[in-house]
Amino acid sequence: MNPSVVPGVAPVGPKPAQLTCPSCHATVVSRVDHNSTTKTHLIALALCLCLCWCCVCVPYCMDSCQNADHYCPNCNAYLGTYQS
Ligand SMILES: [Zn+2]
Repeated sequence: MNPSVVPGVAPVGPKPAQLTCPSCHATVVSRVDHNSTTKTHLIALALCLCLCWCCVCVPYCMDSCQNADHYCPNCNAYLGTYQS
């Protein structure tokens, strides 16, 4: 499964990126919020069933298992989402 960028939003990666905010037009380094996805929960469930309970929290700690929402640190405008 290849990493992909959601169409129609800024091409951002999983880490904070320097870009121009479309709202306040400042050049900013985006603020990133990681969100759990369905995939995160599925991996956690698979770990729970196949391995051991102590591994269940692992996918929730991995950036690659979570969406990265980018926001402007100046005006909090939504800039884009990276989906792993
Ligand atoms: Zn802004």
